[in-house]
Amino acid sequence: MRILMVAPPGAGKGTQGALIAAHFNIPHIATGELLRDHVARRTALGQAVQAYLDRGELVPDQIVLDMTREAMIAAKAAGGGYVLDGIPRNIEQARAAYKIGLELGMTADVALHLEADDAELTRRLLARAALERRSDDTAEVIAQRLALYYDVTAPILAWYRDRGILVSVDAMRSAPEVGREILAALEAMRPFLEDGPVRERLPVDLTSLGEAFGAASTAE
Ligand code: ADP
Repeated sequence: MRILMVAPPGAGKGTQGALIAAHFNIPHIATGELLRDHVARRTALGQAVQAYLDRGELVPDQIVLDMTREAMIAAKAAGGGYVLDGIPRNIEQARAAYKIGLELGMTADVALHLEADDAELTRRLLARAALERRSDDTAEVIAQRLALYYDVTAPILAWYRDRGILVSVDAMRSAPEVGREILAALEAMRPFLEDGPVRERLPVDLTSLGEAFGAASTAE
């Protein structure tokens, strides 16, 4: 399974990315986590990116692309699957990630889009701010991150729709409900994605698929 996630802040990329990674036993490559880890460890890279994170701005493409390439090379050695969380965030990163995928023979099979409205996203991020101390979960920076998402990230969804790999899921429900729908959709697609010997059909809950795929046409 090779998956990339495109979703606004607060939609649940981190939670669902971890679930997908555990379910398919593939690495979860989360660029935001990797960057925050550098900041926490006060590495040179961490010091260089901290201000971008604090302001809710994108760090320079080359920094995240280098990180992603390195993580994808490790993912290849670990079996070739991955779930990318946090990249791509603009069309340049989308093209560059595709190129890395082509070079390594592991382009994404699925672009998973999680959808939720701004009021819900803001509510979740402010609730998280009360629990964790992320420097970018303040009302002002949240608004900046959302605006950036609509300006530069959401437009890449059309590219994945054209490539025929876009799957949109309604992320307005609870994390376990959204997770079940994602796994059902991915399991249903799996027989068509994997090459090699024909596999036994896996049990699939088809009831949720209409919603999972239908959301793509009602989005944007
Ligand atoms: P969220 O989706 O909630 O904003 P992330 O953990 O994905 O959270 O990202 C946090 C921050 O890390 C972003 O606001 C940005 O500063 C930086 N970041 C993460 N991924 C990228 C990326 N692909 N390109 C540029 N900056 C990134």
